[in-house]
Amino acid sequence: MTQDAAPTQLGYLGMGVSDITAWEKFGTEVLGLESRGRDDDGSLLLRMDDYHHRFIFTEDSALDDLNLLGWEVKDEATLNALAGHLQKEGIEVHEGDEDAKNRRRVVHLIEFTDPNGIPTELYCGPLLSRDRPFQSLRPIGNFVAGEQGFGHLTMSVNSLEESLHFYRDVLGLRLSDWVRPQPDRGVQSDLNLAFLHCNRRHHSLAFWEVEMPKRMHHFMIQVQRLDDVGSTYDLCHDRDISIDLTLGRHTNDGMLSFYMKTPSGFDVEYGWGALEVDEEKWTVQLHTTGSSWGHRHL
Ligand code: FE
Repeated sequence: MTQDAAPTQLGYLGMGVSDITAWEKFGTEVLGLESRGRDDDGSLLLRMDDYHHRFIFTEDSALDDLNLLGWEVKDEATLNALAGHLQKEGIEVHEGDEDAKNRRRVVHLIEFTDPNGIPTELYCGPLLSRDRPFQSLRPIGNFVAGEQGFGHLTMSVNSLEESLHFYRDVLGLRLSDWVRPQPDRGVQSDLNLAFLHCNRRHHSLAFWEVEMPKRMHHFMIQVQRLDDVGSTYDLCHDRDISIDLTLGRHTNDGMLSFYMKTPSGFDVEYGWGALEVDEEKWTVQLHTTGSSWGHRHL
């Protein structure tokens, strides 16, 4: 079933972190994001494009993990339609109050939790700061963001079936493909990654049902210039930042990327050159390896 009401992008990502100061330094000096400083509630906001912010870091010494997903929808009618879908599934939905909407810089907002207990928001009317263009501290080009959202996220879920139902059938994301990385066992596998999209980005969300120390495996940000992946790779060596997966090319989205460790222990994938989904032509695919080459553990 494909929903007519669906998010248009994964617009913002919240993380509860033990060291906000380290994240501000890492986010701006290594990833090349721009800091908007601390908000009234003490959270750190980072941006990557015209959007006021894309990343929200809150102090949480015990978590160091994902604590918020913000999905953008086209307009208020879509927001209301999706609120209805959620309520029909028995999910409690709250309308965001003035304070919540101001904090996120959006016109309308609803709040609920996903089947994994992740605080989630649907919003429309994000604040764009075109009067104050994005400016990185680093000499890099722009990120691939805008209507494709901030990037993507790969996380562990309690139940693959339950999360697939929620994100695909209720929220309205579309399945891109599967990665089942155990070729010796044929196409069926216990390790089964689902990749879902809601715009031209191959996936905004990927998940698998696997025990991991953290919900978040990694989030991905994509640069427009290949050289910016290269210079960031060098920077990781220069600054002794752990590279968890070396430079490589993913099989499914064709992303050329590497994975570095963040101050919270999970990874950031820094990528370039992903293919884009043509919704008219796309059919669900299967891959039994995650990468065509590279992405080796050091
Ligand atoms: Fe990724």
